[in-house]
Amino acid sequence: MKRIFNLPQEELPRRWYNVLADLGEPLPPPLDPRTKEPLEPEALKALFAEECVAQEVSTDRFIDIPEEVLEVYRLWRPTPLFRAVNLERALKTPARIYYKYEGTSPTGSHKPNTAVAQAYYHKVEGTKRLTTETGAGQWGSALSFACHVFGLACTVYMVRVSYEQKPYRRVMMEVYGAEVIPSPSERTEAGRKILAKEPDSTGSLGIAISEAIETALNDPGTKYSLGSVLNHVLLHQTIVGEEALLQMEMAGDYPDVVVGCVGGGSNFGGLMLPFFRDAQSRGRKVEFVATEPVACPTITKGEVRYDYGDTAEMTPLLKMHTLGHEFVPPPIHAGGLRYHGMAPIVTHLVRKGVVKAVALDQVHVFEGAVLFAQTEGIIPAPESAHAVRAAIDLAKQCAETGEEKVILIGLSGHGHFDMSAYADYLAGKLVSTASL
Ligand SMILES: *Cc1c(COP(=O)(O)O)cnc(C)c1O
Repeated sequence: MKRIFNLPQEELPRRWYNVLADLGEPLPPPLDPRTKEPLEPEALKALFAEECVAQEVSTDRFIDIPEEVLEVYRLWRPTPLFRAVNLERALKTPARIYYKYEGTSPTGSHKPNTAVAQAYYHKVEGTKRLTTETGAGQWGSALSFACHVFGLACTVYMVRVSYEQKPYRRVMMEVYGAEVIPSPSERTEAGRKILAKEPDSTGSLGIAISEAIETALNDPGTKYSLGSVLNHVLLHQTIVGEEALLQMEMAGDYPDVVVGCVGGGSNFGGLMLPFFRDAQSRGRKVEFVATEPVACPTITKGEVRYDYGDTAEMTPLLKMHTLGHEFVPPPIHAGGLRYHGMAPIVTHLVRKGVVKAVALDQVHVFEGAVLFAQTEGIIPAPESAHAVRAAIDLAKQCAETGEEKVILIGLSGHGHFDMSAYADYLAGKLVSTASL
């Protein structure tokens, strides 16, 4: 049976899909952190590339991918779509399971799709250095790589718990020439404030974002880059779904369910948004399932309101699902899913009933990840494992009901830097979320 659906490189999609053209109403605008008034896009240019700011509010349905960005994408894109035949057999399910695998990128996840685009736009504008935060290290690796490709310096604030759990992620960033600082740090006002209150702080993405922004605002040649949440980040990630649309067609199938994990919502959005458009135009019904950890249940337990993206209240306020910007999640292994907020696009689609969310316990998640590794061979990133687990649960339901659902998983990355998490799971040391 055919298991791999590869697109030829000549068929790499050349446009990103902008869902803002198809939401039927504008998203609530970001608010200025000081005045709480709607923010002029101009004000965002202090932090972000001009082109990204334009994309943030654009309503053009498709946006051309610059040739220089396509040229870098061709290092690993198109990424493969697999049919998970062995997993289906192990589950004795009539469901047909596919996964779109982003782990073949240079840094092992979907994150370079936007890192490369953002670094490119900054290079064009003459930016000298980018700062950012990283949780699990995936985003920091992607931006370090992208900055190096376009000749920019890169400073990464890495959440301390990950810095300690994943020393090799740090080394990877350093190989690409980046400077990596554990957060909270003494380097910034925001970091010093947290350390004064809590010297042993394990850090959070919210704190690291504050540090990265402060550094960017204090240095004229330096700008800031965000790896998720914002509209332009989800836009850049739609390359994933655009490829997957063509690949599902090659496979002669169409998903009934698309399932992804959500930290800030970018890999999930990147995969599902093109299917959202396509399903609407064909009058098809597709279920979109966002999975998150019980330990950081942004959609399932959060409120929808305006909130800051960071702990120190420096970012614009976004209307989104949030657990509160001061929320510090317990140090679970899926570091990339430890974020208090959500992409406003995903929040909007949840409120419209297009996307539904489920929260999963990490022990249950790792059990699924090990089954996936033992059948399909790929060891999923702990984040991606949330999507895998939800798909397994769905496929098991199909085994009971006899439904032949077609399930598409967003496998956002590999877990090769997460062996300590797998070691804990195998040794029975991983704690169930309920007891954290
Ligand atoms: C960062 C990361 C995520 C979570 O971020 P999103 O913006 O929600 O995609 C998920 N999976 C992997 C492998 C990641 O690196």
